[in-house]
Amino acid sequence: MLITLKEAAKKIKAANKILITAHIQPDGDAIGSTLALMQMLRAMDKTAQVYIDDTVRKNLHVLPHFEEIRRPNDGEKFDADLLLILDTSPDRIGKVRDLTDAPILNIDHHITNKGKDVELFDEPKAAATCEIIFKLADELGAEITPDIATCLYTGIATDTGFFQFSNTRAETLRIASELINLGVKPHWISEELEKRSAAEVLGMKTALNSLKIFYGGKVAGMFLTLDDMKKIDSTEGFIDLIRVIDGVDVAFMISEKADKVCRVSMRSKGVDVSKVANELGGGGHIRAAGCTLYKNLAEAEEILVEAIGKAI
Ligand code: 5GP
Ligand code: MN
Repeated sequence: MLITLKEAAKKIKAANKILITAHIQPDGDAIGSTLALMQMLRAMDKTAQVYIDDTVRKNLHVLPHFEEIRRPNDGEKFDADLLLILDTSPDRIGKVRDLTDAPILNIDHHITNKGKDVELFDEPKAAATCEIIFKLADELGAEITPDIATCLYTGIATDTGFFQFSNTRAETLRIASELINLGVKPHWISEELEKRSAAEVLGMKTALNSLKIFYGGKVAGMFLTLDDMKKIDSTEGFIDLIRVIDGVDVAFMISEKADKVCRVSMRSKGVDVSKVANELGGGGHIRAAGCTLYKNLAEAEEILVEAIGKAI
């Protein structure tokens, strides 16, 4: 059920013990939005705890209060009266779903989130969930401290490719500008987030070696096998290496996570890749989407290339 931001704020105000989470394979927006909201709610004298059921890319560990994020254990319970799910629909939060039976409030900006069976505030035009949390602060009457501003700015910067993608609106830059006024150091965040280990850069080399071009140059793909993946701890940003190829509309990367488990990332300059991902059981945004295919790498390639072919 779709609700307004005001209604979402009312539900949050009425709750006292709030469990906050976001999607597995968390990105800057998932971590930034959950940590920002946790700090706001604690300042309102509420119990608020972030749980994420995954490892988090090292670059994001510098965010204020990052060390307080917990990962759920099997059978663990958390005493909550509200489960706040940010930046995803409830199907991508892993074991956090089992921590509590509290009512769910979902806040997201994914166009593919349908709000099935839960109360959802969804704003697909928002570049990041952090944009929405910025506005929610106003509704909650919460102060945005420099630490909170740093978390929110990180989510907006990462989801817009540092203000380069088509989801960057005047409103996005206005909010970013206000966050800088509130104490964000943009150069510090950029420097922390661009850091990569030598192993990661070597991983990029491996990925680039696998480059294939399809449909007369309109589609480009990279492929990482299970063996490759064992040597790479993060593939964050790899897809951007080929997104830039002149004439390429859809770039994709398939990485083999386990036997017959392939993660797919897609980026586009025009085609709606959220539809392609949705068809294959995933989701995302018009120009950035993903899914998991329970196939081997060669089969996954065939299925994906065919689905993209139909969309272009
Ligand atoms: P990425 O390629 O960075 O992993 O994901 C791009 C976008 O698609 C992100 O907004 C992410 O949340 C979304 N996405 C990626 N994989 C999935 C998936 O399996 N299911 C859904 N619903 N969304 C996904
Ligand atoms: Mn996001």
